[in-house]
Parts: sequence; C-alpha cells; structure tokens
Amino acid sequence: MAYKLACAETGAQCPFEVVTTTRDELIEHVKVHVQAAHPEMAGNPPSPETIDKLIHVV
Ligand SMILES: [Zn+2]
Repeated sequence: MAYKLACAETGAQCPFEVVTTTRDELIEHVKVHVQAAHPEMAGNPPSPETIDKLIHVV
C-alpha cells in the first residue's frame, strides 16, 4: 500500500506528484513542496479535510 498526491488536483499548474509508504511521510513531502514551489499557498494552507481528499491510497 502506498499514498499518492498529485499537486495538479489542487488546480495548480504543477506537475509535482509524490508517492510514499506512509501518510505522515506524504504530508511532510507536500509541506516541503508547498513551501518551495507555492509560497502563496503556504500562508493559506489547505484544510486537513481538503488534504484527505487529495490523498489516494494506491
Ligand atoms: Zn505543486
């Protein structure tokens, strides 16, 4: 089992995708990506409910 998130699903024009083996690891990767690539989102982060919808178990 793995966890996957595609940045494009947020509506961003961004090819970033990440797949990890744990949910916590996925969240950490996404945080780092948002800070690096989407500083405008870092000040207004998506809610945990929104993040849950973006995470797919693959
Ligand atoms: Zn992105």
